[in-house]
Amino acid sequence: MSSLPVFQGGHPEAAARFVENEPRTHWHDQSLWFVREKRDRAASLVPDWEALRDAAAGIRAHVRGRLPELLEEFERNAVARGAKVHWAADAGEHNEIVHRILAERGVTRLVKSKSMLTEECGLNPYLEARGIEVVDTDLGERIVQLRHEPPSHIIFSAIHLKREEIGELFHEKLSTPAGLSDPTKLTEAARGHLRQRFLRAQAGLTGVNFAVAETGGVVVCTNEGNADMGTSLPPVHIACMGVEKIVPSLEHLAVLIRLLARSATGQPVTSYTSHFHGPMPGGELHIVVVDNGRSRLLADPAVRGLLACIRCGACLNTCPVYRRSGGYSYGWVVPGPIGSALAAARDPASHATLPFASTLCGSCDAVCPVRIPIHDTLLGERRTLAARGLIAPGKRLGLALVGLLLRSRASYEAAGGLLRFALKWFPRFLLYGPWNVWGRRRELPAPPVESFRQTWRRTRGPLPSPAPRGKGSPGTSAGGSPRG
Ligand code: SF4
Repeated sequence: MSSLPVFQGGHPEAAARFVENEPRTHWHDQSLWFVREKRDRAASLVPDWEALRDAAAGIRAHVRGRLPELLEEFERNAVARGAKVHWAADAGEHNEIVHRILAERGVTRLVKSKSMLTEECGLNPYLEARGIEVVDTDLGERIVQLRHEPPSHIIFSAIHLKREEIGELFHEKLSTPAGLSDPTKLTEAARGHLRQRFLRAQAGLTGVNFAVAETGGVVVCTNEGNADMGTSLPPVHIACMGVEKIVPSLEHLAVLIRLLARSATGQPVTSYTSHFHGPMPGGELHIVVVDNGRSRLLADPAVRGLLACIRCGACLNTCPVYRRSGGYSYGWVVPGPIGSALAAARDPASHATLPFASTLCGSCDAVCPVRIPIHDTLLGERRTLAARGLIAPGKRLGLALVGLLLRSRASYEAAGGLLRFALKWFPRFLLYGPWNVWGRRRELPAPPVESFRQTWRRTRGPLPSPAPRGKGSPGTSAGGSPRG
C-alpha cells in the first residue's frame, strides 16, 4: 500500500514534499476545483445568495455578542428535554468527560460520526489507550482511520487518496478482491464492514453542526446517515460541540443550513439533517460543550471573527495554496485558509509559517458563506508575527531588502534593470542557485527589453505624478490586495 506521510516541519517544507508527486498534486488540485465549481453553480441558483451571506454574517456576529446567555438558554432547554449537559474548559477535560460517561456504563465499543472537535481534542487515541474501540463511521474518516492518518480535509477526509489506493487498503483490511477499485463496490464493502460495527456498538458519538438555544436541540448534518445509525442503535448518544456552534433560534438555523451544504459540496441540502431533542426512549443523550481556547479568541478583536466559521470547507476548495499543498502540510487539525488563521491565532509560535501559506488573493473571502475576512486576518497575523520576532531570519532579511527596494522609485528601477541584465547574461548555475526558491520548479521568464515605465516614457511621454497616499486611495485597503 503506498503511503502519504503526515508531514512534519513548517508549511513550506511539508508542501515541498507534497508537490514532489506531481500527478497527485495536479489531481488533488483538479478534484477540489471541481467541488468549487459545483459550489458556484449551487450558489448561482439561489437568487438571494448574497443577502443570505449577509444575514449569516449578522447571525454569527450576534451569537458572538451574546454567547454566554445563549449557551445558558441552550443548557436550560436541553436539560428540560432530558439531555445532560457537560462543560469542558479544554481538550483534556473533554476527553475525561467522554471517557467517564463510557466507563461508568461499561462501554468498550463506540461508533463515531465526523467531528473535527474530537480530532482537535485527540479523543480517539485517548479512548483507545483506555481500552475502548473507536470506529469512525463516515466513509472518508474510516478510510483514513484504517491508514492511521488524520483527515486531510474537513469535509472530504480522504480527498488526497485515489480509488486504487483505497482498493489496496480495503483488500488488506477488509479482504476485498485484489485490484478492486470500483467506487460502488468499495462503498458496498465499507457498508458491510461498518454495519457489523453499528450493530455491536454500545454507544454512539457525534459532532454537532449547530445547537439551537431556543429548543435545546442539536443538529447533525451528514450525507451517509451514519450519525443516525450510530445514535439510534446503541442506547447512549454523546454529542460534542464547541461553544461557537450555538444559534439563537430555528429561524436563524434555516439561514445557515441553506448556506452550509451548497458551500460545502454544491448540494442544495445534505442528505440527512438530523435534529436531536433529548434522548430516545430508554436512552441517554449527553452534550459536551467545549471551550478549548475559544473564549481567548473571542476576547481578541483581531481574530474573534474566525469563530463564525461553520466548517463548510469552501475556503479550502478554492485556495490555490491548499489545493496544491494538501491538508497534511498545514500540521494542524483544520487545514487551509481558515485553519491557518485559527492555528496562528491560537498558538503563533508553533504555527508561524501558516499565515504565509496564502497568496492573499482573497478567493477564500469570496466564497465564505459567513463572510469571514480570512485573508485580512492572515495579513494581520503576519504583522503580529513580525512584531513578536517570530518570522524566520531568512524571510525577515528578504522582506527588509524588498522594503528597501520599494522605498524609492530610483532603487526600484535600478533593481529592475539589474534583474533584466542578470536574466539575460548570467550563467544558469548563478540564476538557479539554492537562493532562487521560485525557480526550483519553474523556468524564469525571458527578460523584457525594457521596463513598463521605460515603455510608457518612450510611447506616451513623462510618467504621471503618483497620487497622494491616504484614506481611500488605491493600494491602501486593509488587505492591500485584490479581492477574488
Ligand atoms: S472560513 Fe468560511 S469558507 Fe472556510 S470553512 Fe469556515 S465557513 Fe467555510
